[in-house]
Amino acid sequence: MVAEKKEALAGWGNYPVVESLVSHPRDKKDWKEIISTGPLIPRGLGRSYGDQAINSGQHVAVSTRMNHFLAWNEQEGILTCEAGASLEEIITTFAPRGWLPMICPGTKFVTIGGAIANDIHGKAHHVDGSFINCVISFTILLADGRIVTASREENADLFIANFGGLGLLGVILTATIRLRKIETTYFRQQSIKVNNLEEMLEALEKNQHYNYSVAWVDTLAKGKKLGSGVLTVGDAAVFKDLPASLQKDPLKVHTISKLTVPFFMPGFVLNNVTVRVLNRLIAFVQNSPKEFVHYEKFFFPLDMINNWNRGYGKRGFIQYQFVIPEKGGEQVLREIMEMIAASGCTPFLNVFKKMGEGQGILSFPFAGYTLAIDFPVTKGLKDFTRRLDQKVLEAGGRLYLGKDSMMEKEMFQKMYPQYAEWLAIKQKYDPQNTFTSDIAKRLGLGV
Ligand SMILES: Cc1cc2nc3c(=O)[nH]c(=O)nc-3n(C[C@H](O)[C@H](O)[C@H](O)COP(=O)(O)OP(=O)(O)OC[C@H]3O[C@@H](n4cnc5c(N)ncnc54)[C@H](O)[C@@H]3O)c2cc1C
Repeated sequence: MVAEKKEALAGWGNYPVVESLVSHPRDKKDWKEIISTGPLIPRGLGRSYGDQAINSGQHVAVSTRMNHFLAWNEQEGILTCEAGASLEEIITTFAPRGWLPMICPGTKFVTIGGAIANDIHGKAHHVDGSFINCVISFTILLADGRIVTASREENADLFIANFGGLGLLGVILTATIRLRKIETTYFRQQSIKVNNLEEMLEALEKNQHYNYSVAWVDTLAKGKKLGSGVLTVGDAAVFKDLPASLQKDPLKVHTISKLTVPFFMPGFVLNNVTVRVLNRLIAFVQNSPKEFVHYEKFFFPLDMINNWNRGYGKRGFIQYQFVIPEKGGEQVLREIMEMIAASGCTPFLNVFKKMGEGQGILSFPFAGYTLAIDFPVTKGLKDFTRRLDQKVLEAGGRLYLGKDSMMEKEMFQKMYPQYAEWLAIKQKYDPQNTFTSDIAKRLGLGV
């Protein structure tokens, strides 16, 4: 029998926290045994913010012990690995050989299974698209115990439905993915300070030729300053452009940070006054970067402090990320930022960018503007996010399911009308709802 333990479990936002039965399968045999014992959800490194990888009173099976590399084609940069392997492990092994993952989100502590299940995106979505674009195929253990391959040619419905499928169609066991050839592990970047939303959108437009672009926005700013912030753009640095000091070790790899938030901070630490001070600090740091910067700082600045999520206190926090169409988007963004600044809900770490075309069925991205805001959980937060949801819906937008923890089923169905197509695929491959989770129950993602 695979050992299982009752544990209080949450996503990265530490909200909600629920008791689940947790196990750590080591091989296919363990997974098959777990499946035969009742409903479960696979979990990777738990970096989804909400209730995606928790399962109240039911089973959560953590994939991280199945993290082996299985095959590597150095000529083409094609890797086959177990789905519990993380981007961090892939980078550590392959960056010194001149390869990086094609899609890098804001943390490297995500597994390949998690990256597929949320069809994650990075700062280059307008150029590279989302994770689906680097996946050639994967193998998946289905509810009936079969292990099948899914690709664009084979079981194509299963392939596409897993991107954004939240682990609800089966356990992804292995995946074959493309990495990106690099000359150096550095990026050449530039920061542009903008004084309001109009300037922000202009700067984004003018700098679309950069592969990577992301902005930090001060969502406490009001009036003429509304939408002010710093846009950072950049491209992979080539060897000949690097300063001599960096040319000595052009494929340098990160080290794991020793900085950590040792315990949950008291809830009162983060309030509108402290956030205003921190926003000034962020604006200063963002606005005065070095020209050449290592991938660790470029892609994963938050990984430099372990357990930073404890800074929000025991009540936890949510990350509210939406995307809205570009047309009419400026006015909607203005209204949303005004709502946030007036809400008293302490917005922090606000990330803004432009997205390209989307794929997948329940996959989040589509061409438009996306804004992600952290809010500590407070009494009035749910009422406020309900109002925000309505605004996003009216603008033709939707929320990122990999980060959501508060949306209601009716709102989800309006934002993702294609959910019925996804449910038909769920019915075909998992008619007994063997794969379920708290978000599945909340949003009605079961048959
Ligand atoms: C600091 C930070 C920055 C982030 N930045 C970004 C960003 O820029 N862009 C972005 O898109 N996301 C971002 N995220 C979110 C993160 O990339 C996703 O939530 C990702 O899915 C987490 O992977 P994980 O391994 O932790 O999976 P978990 O959170 O453990 O699980 C996520 C989902 O994957 C499913 N799953 C996991 N393993 C398997 C498997 N083997 N088979 C089937 N299903 C499986 C789970 O059931 C669950 O539904 C960020 C998160 C953090 C904490």
